[in-house]
Amino acid sequence: MVTEVVNANDLQKVAPVFGQLSFDNHEQIVFCNDKDTGLKAIIGIHNTVLGPALGGTRMWQYNSEWDALNDVLRLSRGMTYKSAITGLNLGGGKAVIIGDSKTQKTPELMLRFGEFVHSLGGRYITAEDVGMATSDMDLVRTVTPFVTGISEEKGGAGNPSPITAYGVFMGMKAAAKYKFGSDDLENKVIYVQGIGNVGEALVENLTNEGANIYISDINRERLEMVRDKYNVTIYEGDNLYGEDMDIYAPCALGATVNDDTIYQLKAEVIAGAANNQLANELKHGAILQERGIVYAPDFLINAGGIINVYAELENYGRQEIIRKTENIYNTTLEILNKATDNNLTSHQAAFEIAQARIDQRKKEQ
Ligand code: NAD
Repeated sequence: MVTEVVNANDLQKVAPVFGQLSFDNHEQIVFCNDKDTGLKAIIGIHNTVLGPALGGTRMWQYNSEWDALNDVLRLSRGMTYKSAITGLNLGGGKAVIIGDSKTQKTPELMLRFGEFVHSLGGRYITAEDVGMATSDMDLVRTVTPFVTGISEEKGGAGNPSPITAYGVFMGMKAAAKYKFGSDDLENKVIYVQGIGNVGEALVENLTNEGANIYISDINRERLEMVRDKYNVTIYEGDNLYGEDMDIYAPCALGATVNDDTIYQLKAEVIAGAANNQLANELKHGAILQERGIVYAPDFLINAGGIINVYAELENYGRQEIIRKTENIYNTTLEILNKATDNNLTSHQAAFEIAQARIDQRKKEQ
């Protein structure tokens, strides 16, 4: 018998979508291409059992199309579990546009993207993510109703970032309660990595609480602006993972808890806004558990943004947005306790609750 040896690159060539590492029974992947505007986008619809697949659009200069595909697969799957664990009647989806949002995002490109979203008839509903602004969603709204995160002037719930940050703050407090016995963050040393829209709003919440905050970002201008506004310390080193801290709050991009960083981490709690913080959910979740580092699952504690945009579909107001977001505190504690009781990682515990909700709904359909 001849055994064929296939290397990873060859595998990708024969199984470019269903064979992707991050493919997890996604229902539909849509590749959008428009020569005239230069649009190259991928829409990932992971699961629609609980409702239409809602998730933001990210514009990013990926190193390769494989990276873009991998990202949309991971992000859309994350949205399924985020909405499920938060109790929303939404499925999971996400879109990525390949390109530099600062130089390549034109109105024509955004409109063309909106038309692609529209062609899916509501199976996918978009919103903003990294590289997108409320004004972009307003533009998309002119060609499709299947968009959320539009401005308050246009009848939307507005910028979701402050609500996302508030949810992260709630999740962080719950994780602190679990780890330190108190949810008071006064004097806790907290590193916020990435002080963009969400990171800055998180810094504001933490400042009000009296935390001892260090900030890091690749954008020097923002660092100085946030430092001046909130009187926090700029981290000047180049490897924050090894610094003494109580809490690490990843609020830039994902996969920062990985093979290189995980054994350096001195934090006792990880709680931040970034999606997909664990490069490998199973492996890195287990190592964190072994090391006694409490990890507040990202897809749970960063759900404030989706709660905010869901209000546009369900027509609930500010009070209900805040109530649902504050409930992230209770859900986080419940999950951390379930994880301990069942010897699971916190990620697995959250995932199991979310999956059970999806399975139950499927049975009822
Ligand atoms: P943003 O683009 O406004 O901010 C990201 C910040 O991270 C920028 O200031 C950028 O300079 C910085 N950054 C990039 N790479 C970095 C690095 N290597 N080290 C340090 N800083 C770096 O994005 P945002 O809206 O604040 O979102 C932050 C994260 O939270 C993203 O992962 C996003 O997917 C996630 N998230 C956001 C929302 C929301 O409501 N905006 C909701 C859920 C999840």
